Amino acid sequence: MIKLALFPGDGIGPEVSNEAVRILKFVFDVNRVSYEFEEELVGGASYDSYKKPITEKALKIAKESDAVLFGAVGGYKWESLPIELRPEKALLTLRYDLGLYANLRPAKVYDDLIDASPLKKDIVSGTDIMIVRELTGGIYFGQPRGIFDTGNGQKKGINTLAYTTEEIKRIAIVAFEIAKKRRKKVLSVDKANVLESTELWRETVAEVSKCYPGIELSNMYVDNCSMQLIRQPRSFDVIVTTNMFGDILSDEASMVAGSIGMLPSASLNGKKGMYEPIHGSAPDIVGQNKANPLATILSAAMMLRYSLDLDSLADKIEKAVENVIKKGFRTLDIYSSAPGTKASGTKEMGDAVITELKSIFK
Ligand code: NAD
Repeated sequence: MIKLALFPGDGIGPEVSNEAVRILKFVFDVNRVSYEFEEELVGGASYDSYKKPITEKALKIAKESDAVLFGAVGGYKWESLPIELRPEKALLTLRYDLGLYANLRPAKVYDDLIDASPLKKDIVSGTDIMIVRELTGGIYFGQPRGIFDTGNGQKKGINTLAYTTEEIKRIAIVAFEIAKKRRKKVLSVDKANVLESTELWRETVAEVSKCYPGIELSNMYVDNCSMQLIRQPRSFDVIVTTNMFGDILSDEASMVAGSIGMLPSASLNGKKGMYEPIHGSAPDIVGQNKANPLATILSAAMMLRYSLDLDSLADKIEKAVENVIKKGFRTLDIYSSAPGTKASGTKEMGDAVITELKSIFK
């Protein structure tokens, strides 16, 4: 029995996760996979009911499940709360408590959505990148940190970039394992020319690569990588990098791919994972059946692949999404006036994916 935690959250979170759950239930039922969802409030919704962004009960559900499907959290209503009580704290607590050290963000350009990219068609066509970002170490967590008085009327802000070989090894293994199922190329991104911690990063990734003779490893400095992502995004397969470099490069890569409503993500600790769209709670369109559910549906597909070993079901959902795009279904964020375009709401998009899946499973 597969146990899944469902945390829809705030704003459009419940609308988009509802569609992803419909799709998961459909593929599980067709394939006679037994499952159970346990749902709980998180974020602002949790604050409104329990006065905290995430409860012990929600954390227990997450820990006892095989994987977590997360919608989005946040909204105007909770913006003035102290930082510890803000909806976004739910996400950070889950990442920390579940030890989710590997963040996977695919950036894939669909040929039929190529106009959504701000770059020229011939540059972005065929782009399919997987960014593997280290998520629980590096400069966002290193000690010492803080703002200190220097004693001479000045202040000093300090953050520490530190990585152990073990932290580097485990994220490198994730990247090489993913590359095995893709085009068999790993690019490690660092700043080894000036930062010792990333010199160790480079050495350790090279050491791990010896266990993966079928995978081609190359290295690039982060400044060059940020240029090459715009210049020749198609040349990348799997990128593995530190927490801060991954934070920045994955946002850059998501813009290469176009709409925020299309991009899924996974955060992993071994097989255990949390899956969520990269977008937020979009308070400006909540309750209007306007949100694009495809990023969350694609996050559910990642869940099948990375936590549940159901790769063939993940492939089928991804194929169904591709077909739906090909057939012209478009929510507002990816709408264009091209001939054949079918303006669709959140629910209609979910229906279209299920219709495609029905014909794929026939
Ligand atoms: P956002 O991603 O919610 O929205 C940015 C823009 O993209 C908005 O115009 C929105 O309508 C649009 N958009 C987002 N998702 C869409 C979708 N699926 N379909 C169609 N359009 C979509 O970012 P924001 O406006 O900066 O933040 C809103 C709230 O979400 C804030 O409270 C923020 O803290 C929170 N947030 C949460 C997460 C998360 O839960 N992981 C991530 C980012 C922001």
